[in-house]
Amino acid sequence: MLITLKIGSRAGCKSVIFWLLILKMCFSFCQVELPKKIVVIDPGHGGKDTGAIGVHGVLEKEVVLKIAKEILNHNHLILDDRIEVYLTRYKDTLISLSDRAMLTRELKSDLFISLHCNAAITGASGMEIFVADKDNPHMESSVQLATSVLGESGRKLGIRERGVKVGNFQVQRETMDFCPTILIETGFVTHVDEGDYYQKPRNIKAVALAILLGIYNYLKSED
Ligand SMILES: [Zn+2]
Repeated sequence: MLITLKIGSRAGCKSVIFWLLILKMCFSFCQVELPKKIVVIDPGHGGKDTGAIGVHGVLEKEVVLKIAKEILNHNHLILDDRIEVYLTRYKDTLISLSDRAMLTRELKSDLFISLHCNAAITGASGMEIFVADKDNPHMESSVQLATSVLGESGRKLGIRERGVKVGNFQVQRETMDFCPTILIETGFVTHVDEGDYYQKPRNIKAVALAILLGIYNYLKSED
């Protein structure tokens, strides 16, 4: 219910186009001075590991891969000289968590962003973002990045914000020493509205744009 609003309509599509134009303008003004940043987007699960299975059979592994590809596509369209995006997987294959982390280290990534969807039997909804817990040398910057992404998603799309939380995920433990790392639980595919929401390509695009805008704003604040 909460996130069918702005982008589930023609007004929503206009809103997406509006952001694109704003982003393009910002980028045009800033691109000369800004150094390129490497961002690794990690769509969770894949292959035989479907992740959560939601309403109407929607699969977490497919939702997060679609969002990741849209982030890549939008970045090519808008910010390609500012941010260089790599995915840990580009198709429906299962990559080990260690290999995802190794890729991040070898690319000398500036940011690591893992994408997942939540599941619950309680009817829970909304987006939450995890930062790595103990001994995280990039805790402060990770929280700033998470706050930026969550804020963009909440403000622009009306997604319910469940907050920035600390977690203990392997993929973050193995990347936190090298760069800020966040794990985004984009929404609950088991929730009747959100499961439905993530089956629509326009909503996938909108969430991807909100995440990209959150990344962009975070990097801008770091310059
Ligand atoms: Zn997951």
